[in-house]
Amino acid sequence: MSRFWSPLVQQLKPYVAGEQLDLPGLVKLNTNENPYGPAPEVLAAIQRAAQSGQAGGDALRLYPDPQSSALRQAIATHHGVTPEQVFVGNGSDEVLAHAFQAFFRHGGPLLMPDVSYSFYPVYGQLYGIPCETVPLRADFSVDLQGYARPDGVCAGVVIANPNAPTGIALPLDQIEALLRLHPNRVVLVDEAYVDFGAQSAVNLLDRHPNLLVVQTLSKSRGLAGLRVGYALGSTELIEGLARIKGCFNSYPLDRLAQAGAVASFAAQGYFTQTCSRVMQSRDRLTQGLDALGFEVLPSATNFVFARHPQRDAAELAQALKAQAILVRHFPQPRIAQFLRITVGTDAQCERLLAALGGMVGTAQA
Ligand SMILES: *Cc1c(COP(=O)(O)O)cnc(C)c1O
Repeated sequence: MSRFWSPLVQQLKPYVAGEQLDLPGLVKLNTNENPYGPAPEVLAAIQRAAQSGQAGGDALRLYPDPQSSALRQAIATHHGVTPEQVFVGNGSDEVLAHAFQAFFRHGGPLLMPDVSYSFYPVYGQLYGIPCETVPLRADFSVDLQGYARPDGVCAGVVIANPNAPTGIALPLDQIEALLRLHPNRVVLVDEAYVDFGAQSAVNLLDRHPNLLVVQTLSKSRGLAGLRVGYALGSTELIEGLARIKGCFNSYPLDRLAQAGAVASFAAQGYFTQTCSRVMQSRDRLTQGLDALGFEVLPSATNFVFARHPQRDAAELAQALKAQAILVRHFPQPRIAQFLRITVGTDAQCERLLAALGGMVGTAQA
């Protein structure tokens, strides 16, 4: 605490990101990064962007395109929408922050699942938005009825689909039901993991002007370090986001990020191949955990959420860390006995399974 902090800052509880350790031989399965990284064309494009400019290599002297026009066009083409339906930001976390400011400060409560991305309540407190959690069912599926409000009063809905950290995907007809429940409020669908086997709500955009779909290049496109995320929605929603951006940071995406992201959308073959590799490894990892006695929730993401009926999750996470394997543990109600394990390469998954096999075996001996 400091006497210089405003009352707001004194109260804040910032989001705690997964550790970014860098040790030799570390198996890092704690922050859902993609083990394959970006397409080679992405690195080439970033290099070209850094070296271009009239005098050669002086491109970084100049501000980037504040509208990220080329990137918004590439994203629009990829999703079959217009560039006016695309907003880009410095990671989807920034896009989410702007969306909270732009659409959810209506006075009523913002509805969200009780188990979901823990950044949502953080933005809620930053922007003074009351958040109301709607419990997932016992099997961690979404209970639609819980989002109905007889008086219609709420600030909107934010939901991750597939959900994090459970990994469970919600069918599109249920997303559509949410959109119909609150036609005068924004329903934000955070699709950070959608490319690993779930259905995107993008096809619902034509029918629902209150839908905002948020995606990121951090997971399926292997570019967590580049910080690029985006929102797709009706032009009125995108304009609302642009108004916030125009009051915050005119140049959220630097030249290198814009160039690399455009190249990522051009490398479609690499994208589909690496996504399907991750999905195959996920299924193998699920079987391996299953064989060790873990209960694994059905995942449509690049991570699995699993618990062992006899072993404490926090202790398992600690023991794995001692063997240079990082996974994520959330000491929260309902999920404190689960581990969230990112799908790595098959070799990394094998190391994890071997380590867990040793621990689970020891306990039963
Ligand atoms: C990783 C993640 C994000 C943030 O992604 P960035 O684009 O890297 O900021 C947003 N939402 C969910 C649910 C995520 O898991």
